[in-house]
Amino acid sequence: MSEFENCPQLYKYRVIDQLPQPPSLDAERGTLVHTILHDLFENAPSDRTPQSAIELLPSRWQAQMAAKPELMEMVTNEKEWFDRAESLLRTYFTLEDPQSFEATHRELHLENDFSDDIYLHGYVDRLDVAPTGEVRIVDYKTGKAPKPGWEEKALFQLRVYALLYFKTHNVLPRLLQLIYLGDGKVVKSTPTLTDLASTEKVLKRVASDIFASIDKDYWPPKPSRLCDWCYFKTICPAHTS
Ligand code: SF4
Repeated sequence: MSEFENCPQLYKYRVIDQLPQPPSLDAERGTLVHTILHDLFENAPSDRTPQSAIELLPSRWQAQMAAKPELMEMVTNEKEWFDRAESLLRTYFTLEDPQSFEATHRELHLENDFSDDIYLHGYVDRLDVAPTGEVRIVDYKTGKAPKPGWEEKALFQLRVYALLYFKTHNVLPRLLQLIYLGDGKVVKSTPTLTDLASTEKVLKRVASDIFASIDKDYWPPKPSRLCDWCYFKTICPAHTS
């Protein structure tokens, strides 16, 4: 949904038309690091160390390439590739101590029917339930933290997860935590019921805008700095007309 807010034309290419896109190396590196942080919690607490995480790199990368053979040609310097992923994993250990807690859920699927025609779902990287019952929702990012003033926008996705969790469990999460491995920063927020109510309002408003765009087949491009990374720039009316 935030993709529609960023650029309706891009949303159409990706979600409505489902045009294929080649894999992006940044996204694939993110997948690799996410897989390792997921699997790390299979180990006993004493074995959740930087070294044991780094040792998972070759096997998890092999599995990723087996699922997407085109990656083999995209990564030409495997040492450099592993070095970068290793650096992100080492940064993780400067921000959290995975020996000190249990990850209650990883890749937790949350879903809800907000109305007859609005269904929303998503996968939370990690959701921890403390012995006291308090809930923490955690999302790993392999990029850098947003600049000051942009944290609220970045937190929107976690507020949606908090809303989905609240709707299905009737428990208000205590803490939302975005962990940025690109620059070793953490953005935290304590959601309130008012925050969740306004998140739901935004979701319903965006859903209604999307339905209106579908009805009118109206997908205005919204040029921004995002265009420099947009795979569809060569066919986008904002850049071709
Ligand atoms: S190039 Fe820019 S304006 Fe065009 S679809 Fe991509 S993000 Fe939107």
